[in-house]
Amino acid sequence: MNKKELLTKKLARLAVKIGANVQEGQVVIITSDLHAAPLVRLIQEEAYLAKAKKVYVDWKDDVLTKNYYTYVSDETLQEMPEWDLLKMKYMVEHNACRIVIDSRNPEALKGVDVNRLLIASRANGPKTTFFQNHYSSSKSQWTIVAYPNDAWAKTIFPNLPVEEAWDKLFDAIMYTSRVTLDNDIEKEWQEHTKRLELHSKKMNEYNFKELHFENCLGTNLTIGLVESHIWAGGGEMGGNGVYFVPNIPTEEVFTMPHKDKVNGKVVSTKPLNYQGTLIKDFYLIFKDGKVVEFDAKEGYDALKSLIELDEGSSRLGEVALISYDSPISNLNILFNNTLFDENASCHLALGNAYSMNIKDGTKQTEEELVSRGYNVSLTHVDFMFGSSDMEITGYTYDGKKVPIFVKGNFVF
Ligand code: ZN
Ligand code: ZN
Repeated sequence: MNKKELLTKKLARLAVKIGANVQEGQVVIITSDLHAAPLVRLIQEEAYLAKAKKVYVDWKDDVLTKNYYTYVSDETLQEMPEWDLLKMKYMVEHNACRIVIDSRNPEALKGVDVNRLLIASRANGPKTTFFQNHYSSSKSQWTIVAYPNDAWAKTIFPNLPVEEAWDKLFDAIMYTSRVTLDNDIEKEWQEHTKRLELHSKKMNEYNFKELHFENCLGTNLTIGLVESHIWAGGGEMGGNGVYFVPNIPTEEVFTMPHKDKVNGKVVSTKPLNYQGTLIKDFYLIFKDGKVVEFDAKEGYDALKSLIELDEGSSRLGEVALISYDSPISNLNILFNNTLFDENASCHLALGNAYSMNIKDGTKQTEEELVSRGYNVSLTHVDFMFGSSDMEITGYTYDGKKVPIFVKGNFVF
């Protein structure tokens, strides 16, 4: 086996043993682009070695997807055949674990009318809520890992020949996923997730009322957190009692801002790729949770359409803390892919919150959650605002002031 094959095999093992933590007798469903076939074959084998009952693969292809959204009628876009739903029901009822390979071309749907995508998601979204909720509330395990493809690599390294760009992206994926030729991948990740969990544990013990962020770029922002919020990060305990790690890589600990209690200004530190448009050097000003002023040096219209998508897209659904000194941040590459870019630096998300970030949240209805400060939106878009001089201070309910970040990094 050459170096590339060895690393790919280790990534497959990481996805199966740590990411999804496949259990004996469990059904596994892999969703992947065709480009990632070499990784999928190895994951399938690892899953069988872990005594999975059966491994199914759902293949996707950028060109087929683009052709579909370009040519079918609006009526067809809104249809979902019964067999697709039956398959989802089967997965939910059989506690299947999901492994998603992220190997998309970020520009795959360039030129497709965004309204066509909206028509499809508005019509079919509600039909599949039972399935989305099952996995987003972690009733069974799921994980995402990445694999390069030519078009994606060229968006990151446009000046390199395609083979070189692919190799560079491959190396970057392995480095940020902490896969090296000589490490013990399971031990490496157990230690990494333990570190992240230590941060969440400390943040949960402080039970901060609000956080204050400040840096020399002009960020001066106070974020009120919902009462009984939960900081999460690293791995999670599934509703089925199996511990798993949903994102590979992952560097963040995150929780739920109160949708009405965000005030001040935040200045972005990395470009945001929103539906194929890069939004650069932008700022947002919040009053009582809502964006009341914003501007961008580039991509203003895209930022405006995001903020005006619905009521919730002008409010926050997530605040995530990541030390400035981390593998993704140190590479200083814009991956054009959220799995990586959101782990590069402290970020906020405009849009929907995660019910797991509030006590008993996954058992409550949307109305109950909203009354506690949970934000609802059709979207959830992360943007980066961490910097090497970021200072973060926590304020407790009894008025204590606690430093959390000094000069861009966690102090504990
Ligand atoms: Zn996040
Ligand atoms: Zn997010």
